[in-house]
Amino acid sequence: MMDEFSFIKRITPNKNFQRSLIVGIGDDAAVYRSKAGFDEVICVDTMVEDIHFRLDTLTPFQIGYKALAVNVSDIAAMGAIPTYYLVSIAVPKHWQEESVVEIYAGMKQLAEQYSLNLIGGDTVSTNDKLVITVTALGQVEQGEQLQRSMAQDGDIVFVTGTVGDSAAGLHLLFEKGLDGPYHAGEQVLVATHQQPKPQVEFARMLINHHIRVSLNDVSDGVASEVNELAEASQVTIRLHVNQLPLSDAMQMFPREKQIEWALYGGEDFQLIGTVAKEDWQRLLEQCHLLGIRCTNIGVVEAGDAKVLLVEDEQVTELKVFGYNHFRK
Ligand code: ADP
Ligand code: MG
Repeated sequence: MMDEFSFIKRITPNKNFQRSLIVGIGDDAAVYRSKAGFDEVICVDTMVEDIHFRLDTLTPFQIGYKALAVNVSDIAAMGAIPTYYLVSIAVPKHWQEESVVEIYAGMKQLAEQYSLNLIGGDTVSTNDKLVITVTALGQVEQGEQLQRSMAQDGDIVFVTGTVGDSAAGLHLLFEKGLDGPYHAGEQVLVATHQQPKPQVEFARMLINHHIRVSLNDVSDGVASEVNELAEASQVTIRLHVNQLPLSDAMQMFPREKQIEWALYGGEDFQLIGTVAKEDWQRLLEQCHLLGIRCTNIGVVEAGDAKVLLVEDEQVTELKVFGYNHFRK
């Protein structure tokens, strides 16, 4: 890395998407005007080299894209419109400035898609591994935020898109590395791992059509996310394993593997939640208009906070969850 100040100049956005921005990068802090009738939503996520990614599974561009995508996914899971982001980055001394600029190019690609503005951050150096922390902001109509705690007896459990693809993609990346070669089907899986698409449109459709749901994003795997919904709402969730939406691209793997990745793999960044039976058809119609796949994968019942995995005739209580940093 060269000079911090010339670096900041290089990554300062040349476009402003948000009219509420008053002071962006260049002062001691950013200032933006909050909008009447909206609540502010904020979240932060850190990615650490060799814990969350490896340099042989993500390019610098993809590290940036993904670090922002996981945050935009959290904003979406609250039903909010993403607006701004800040980036704190600890760069190993041996990194070239060009590679760090690539990380910002990756973030910029996603930011432009959703009209987010980069409004600040911090740059430090480190002896060892790259650490990138992104803070994202958003706004949601006052009192309309979508929470995990809204699941009710009789609700249908749904998930958008397909699940397990990211874990399958990571499996392939471990086998073949960044350069592959990957055939078309494999590319889909690898791309889902490297550049997941946050489901902002789906969440905003729910808000715009006043469809009340409980909602969570799939960062740690369906099993873990459903468990969080059950815990937050204090309900029992019956998860129908055979109804999990598995992509065509994943069919090259044994079914057992597909199910394992879908339940415990994580990083799909799809949205998962529950909705009243009366609203299910309406939700499906709106998804159809948007070209978004949404699948019924279970049902909510009154009872203790727990998840029951239903597969064929067998019912087992879920005990194992997704990735946990502090689990030995
Ligand atoms: P200060 O010392 O007041 O924190 P800095 O010199 O660290 O100011 O930063 C100058 C400006 O550049 C600030 O607006 C800050 O938010 C922004 N900035 C610094 N590092 C980054 C970064 N890695 N990404 C985005 N913005 C950054
Ligand atoms: Mg600073």
